[in-house]
Amino acid sequence: MTDKTHQLIGLTAATSLFFVFHPTDQLTWGIAGTIAIGSFIGSVLPDIDQPTSDIWDVVPAGEWLGKLTSKSLGGHRNLSHSILGFLLFTFLFNWLVQSFLKTGTFIDSPILLESFMAGFIAHLLADSVTVMGIPLFWPFGANMGFPPRPFHGIRILTGKWFENLIVFPGVVIVLALIIITNSNNLALF
Ligand SMILES: [Zn+2]
Repeated sequence: MTDKTHQLIGLTAATSLFFVFHPTDQLTWGIAGTIAIGSFIGSVLPDIDQPTSDIWDVVPAGEWLGKLTSKSLGGHRNLSHSILGFLLFTFLFNWLVQSFLKTGTFIDSPILLESFMAGFIAHLLADSVTVMGIPLFWPFGANMGFPPRPFHGIRILTGKWFENLIVFPGVVIVLALIIITNSNNLALF
């Protein structure tokens, strides 16, 4: 999956999670911003093992750092695409938030963490329906995906027509529907 698909799927997952876990809360601009930031970080982070990822375009010396990180993580789709990676990165992100996030900003730290986890898990799920699959139990076992072999032929090829013409617009519609069905809980206008 490409970065933009991951970001959109992550945002959609985190938004629906917010409405499920906080049915009585209002979605304000502050909460929307928190969800967007958390899900963005969570949904792009697994691909730090890929030197061509968008993340590396925004950090200084990104091209060089990207190659270095990719090498040290063992190439694309390793630790950061596994359950172990999810736990490690969530622990680290939570630690950073607890240590450095100042109180009094619009950011709600529990929702930030939830959105981060939603974005990260959504990334792994989305990658698992691609041809390459993901090493869920890294460092043990081979890449796996859905549907499993020998039906892997119908999995998606990253960045090809199915992702761009079906998956991406499909997720836009799902996100719009989630927002419309929860319009009673919107405090944006
Ligand atoms: Zn990935």
